[in-house]
Amino acid sequence: MQRKKAVLLKRKLSTMMFGMVLATSSYGIGVEVERRPAQTTLERVQQNRGNPAALADLLPILRGSCVPNKYERILLTQLRDQQTTTKDFRRVADALTEVLAHKVVDCVDTSSVTIQTPVSATMGEVFAKTIEVVSVMRSGDALLDVMLKHFPYASVSKFLIQRDEETAEPHFKYMKLSASIASGSDVLITEPMIATGGTLDMVIPLLKEKGVLEENIIVACVCAAPEGVLKLCEKFPKIRVVMNVLDDCLNEKKYIVPGLGDFGDRYFGILE
Ligand code: URA
Repeated sequence: MQRKKAVLLKRKLSTMMFGMVLATSSYGIGVEVERRPAQTTLERVQQNRGNPAALADLLPILRGSCVPNKYERILLTQLRDQQTTTKDFRRVADALTEVLAHKVVDCVDTSSVTIQTPVSATMGEVFAKTIEVVSVMRSGDALLDVMLKHFPYASVSKFLIQRDEETAEPHFKYMKLSASIASGSDVLITEPMIATGGTLDMVIPLLKEKGVLEENIIVACVCAAPEGVLKLCEKFPKIRVVMNVLDDCLNEKKYIVPGLGDFGDRYFGILE
């Protein structure tokens, strides 16, 4: 029994280290009986999509859960359904953005204050820093109204980055930044779909060039592909990312699977 346990442990360790299984022969010599390629980080993320603790280790820029709760699952079902009308798509996307706004609040610093209620003095909590919003047009604009309800004093900067329909490569077209973008505020980028991460890979360096600190950047997205989030982890390890759901993968056209199609087209109703 003891020996059986030792062999099993040895197998497990060998698999972790070499991506292959070694069995112990009756002479105590390890013989290779099966060869498995070592799992890539992408495969480990995909395998652990429902496991928040594992994802926190694999994707350290994530804040809050990217495993949807029951309310998010119901909303996402409607959002993904190709039968959903533009009117309902907007309503449901706005409800998901409400949830996202709460996740943003959970990942920013607050400070304690004393206030006076009509009845007594009590301790309360306020945002420690101001927040600026950066919308990546077109689809980033779809999250704006709801975010501004929660952060009503935020200036709004804009980027227009167009994705080439054929190659999925992003092309920079336009930016207009607020004068206070680099004043030390948290900078919230609204980008509903992180697919390859190419758009953010263009926007974040431009913000950094203008003096925004990487650690002040927060990205709010509805749906992301592991490929894009891994790219962001590698290139911008100090940013924070909140999302409603981490999906399976990208298809050959770099659309998120299962995804919901083109977020901007559906939200702005240009398909109906
Ligand atoms: N942008 C979208 O709107 N949808 C995708 O699936 C990928 C990028």
